[in-house]
Amino acid sequence: MLVRDKLFIGGRWVAPLAKDAIEVHNAGTGEVMGRIPAAGEKDVDAAVTAARAALDGWSSKDPSFRAEALEKISQGLKARADQIAKTIAQEVGMPLKMSARIQAGLPIANFSNFAKILKDFTFEERVGNSLVVREPVGVVGAITPWNYPLHQIALKVAPALAAGCTVVLKPSEIAPFNAFILAEVMEAAGLPAGVFNLVTGYGQPAGEALVKHPGVDMISFTGSTRAGKRISELAAQSVKRVALELGGKSASVILDDADLAAAVKSTVNGCYLNSGQTCTALTRMLVPDSLYKEASAMAADIAKTFTVGDPMAETTKLGPLTSQAQLERVRGYIKKGQQEGAELLAGGADAPEGVPAGGYYVKPTVFGKVKNSMTIAQEEIFGPVLSIIPYKDEEDAIRIANDTVYGLAGAVWSKDESRAQRVARRIRAGQVDVNGGAFNMNAPFGGFKQSGHGREAGVFGLEEFLEYKSLQLKG
Ligand code: NAD
Repeated sequence: MLVRDKLFIGGRWVAPLAKDAIEVHNAGTGEVMGRIPAAGEKDVDAAVTAARAALDGWSSKDPSFRAEALEKISQGLKARADQIAKTIAQEVGMPLKMSARIQAGLPIANFSNFAKILKDFTFEERVGNSLVVREPVGVVGAITPWNYPLHQIALKVAPALAAGCTVVLKPSEIAPFNAFILAEVMEAAGLPAGVFNLVTGYGQPAGEALVKHPGVDMISFTGSTRAGKRISELAAQSVKRVALELGGKSASVILDDADLAAAVKSTVNGCYLNSGQTCTALTRMLVPDSLYKEASAMAADIAKTFTVGDPMAETTKLGPLTSQAQLERVRGYIKKGQQEGAELLAGGADAPEGVPAGGYYVKPTVFGKVKNSMTIAQEEIFGPVLSIIPYKDEEDAIRIANDTVYGLAGAVWSKDESRAQRVARRIRAGQVDVNGGAFNMNAPFGGFKQSGHGREAGVFGLEEFLEYKSLQLKG
């Protein structure tokens, strides 16, 4: 049992003023795996005060000093990579081997990458008679979700610290233990007191207290569109800068000249990654009418190869969902898909067999003959549920791909590279994979439309945490 009863504020582990605790569940078994503090407004206030006090000192450090600190943090995380991978496999349910590569690997890589970016970054430039300087935006409130918990944290905390900002982190209450490991790593790296602060708790009151706090200059939020809207409203009261990374309903557009087997396989993998709990999941597979039969048979066959089970077992390809609430939500969507007339090609709403009792397991599911107006094609399910949508021609495919309130990601497949790129340019989304192009940690990541605004990762992610200042010079 993991019991954390302190918050990390001003460089020390302090008992929270609010006395409530939150139980955290193991996704694979449903058992309580530990407890964390449910911080209140006064705890958030103490953390913001500490972050404000540390701001001048941290922002005036030479960037090379901050780069060194980030590299130390990366090394500290690396030394604890096995523990991070195991913790997140239990909290979130991602199979352990994948958790080691993605959930532990990406934060290690990102902290180190922002150290490198910082070394080459130019904070000043001359524009006519002006010296334009880049300054840190100030105290950052970072609010993060549970699906890639430490990765989402790293994409905010590393660039914010690189920019010279100080941070108060409010991680997800559903997968919080990885954030405590990060705080210990920060402490061991000798980060000045107050530069990084950790408060755990619910969205309300802890998250909202951070958003409303007059001592916070910027909120960087990743999570649901619902919470993003609420945060925007609250932040508007004090005209805070807000960056939002929200949900998605991404389309994989398979054109009639694509390598069909490769395209279908990659789309199903992209849909089922982390049991479908991925904001960029390719949940809508668009196929021409002429290839529908072949493509849907392929997808159903591939889905059946996703062995569902204990995230700690070697043989597991699809772990459980993260929580009971997620399980009920995803099963509800599967039932809704059947009610609305989609054709169930694989999986279904009933529980899979041979999985540990009490865990939040769901079958890898494929729906065929989906109409884009159906609920399963419009709403973010956040589970392993693929919708196959037939289309008439290229224009029809582009129309369907864009017929969504979201605009986070997408994919296009064609043997003709220039055709694929032409279609990719017409998809209103922040990131479109062309013929399975690889993930690039230096490319900007973020959404169009209700998938949010602002960009994370690489130099674009660093710029999110900087303000421009113009010094008008005489000479
Ligand atoms: P969520 O919105 O419920 O919670 C996210 C975080 O916000 C948590 O820390 C939560 O405590 C906090 N929160 C909730 N309500 C709040 C409020 N009113 N004020 C302040 N804080 C509040 O989301 P979740 O269920 O943890 O994560 C899943 C969602 O995140 C999905 O919609 C997914 O698409 C999205 N997501 C987006 C990205 C991206 O980069 N675009 C990445 C990962 C996840």
